[in-house]
Amino acid sequence: MRLIFLGPPGIGKGTQAKLLAERYSLAHLSTGDMCRSVISKKTDVGTFAKSFIDKGKLVPDDVVLGMVNERLREDDTASGYIFDGFPRTVPQVEGFKKLLKELGQFIDHVIALEGNDTVLVERLSSRRTCSDCGKIINLIFSPPKVSGQCDDCGGEIFQRNDDKPEVIQKRLDVYEEQTEPLVHYYERKALLRRVDGVGSVHEVAERIDKYLINNILEE
Ligand code: AMP
Repeated sequence: MRLIFLGPPGIGKGTQAKLLAERYSLAHLSTGDMCRSVISKKTDVGTFAKSFIDKGKLVPDDVVLGMVNERLREDDTASGYIFDGFPRTVPQVEGFKKLLKELGQFIDHVIALEGNDTVLVERLSSRRTCSDCGKIINLIFSPPKVSGQCDDCGGEIFQRNDDKPEVIQKRLDVYEEQTEPLVHYYERKALLRRVDGVGSVHEVAERIDKYLINNILEE
């Protein structure tokens, strides 16, 4: 099964994609994580990507498509994957279409997680990340037992630069302008399912699962 998760920043794509990837043994492909990985390695591409991410802007399409192209040739993607945060622009959809054709693959479902700006701003500004295991922590809904420390691995938790208040609104605007049109694109292709992303992690996961189980059984 090959899936795409669409949705605004802060809606919980990463958390839900990770859960679903574990449940269905799929590769979790987050272009945000790919960008953060090249940044942490301090490569030229990483420094270039960081200059966009820190301002809440999208990394240029050719850079992202290059990373996706490489990643899709790795063995763990052979039995299926979930894209989290990709594609994000019309040129990325076009580039991805070409790549899928080359690889002889197609996308089974696109899940669009939805929520309003108030919820998104609240979630993003209270979001922290573990510097060791990458776990996403929310200070309001799931605060760590020991302040500043990840419950799972004891790693130090930090706030991503792009989760700071001055960058959040920019990211939401960029989503509306550049990524929301993709929701309509996939809707026209009859691949898309809108899912309410407001609620607990468990509630949203159940909604996604219910849809997938119904559709997998129908196929
Ligand atoms: P995310 O972790 O998905 O919220 O992504 C964090 C940041 O990485 C985004 O705000 C963008 O700057 C960059 N990024 C992630 N995925 C993409 C993409 N598909 N296209 C362009 N930029 C991306």
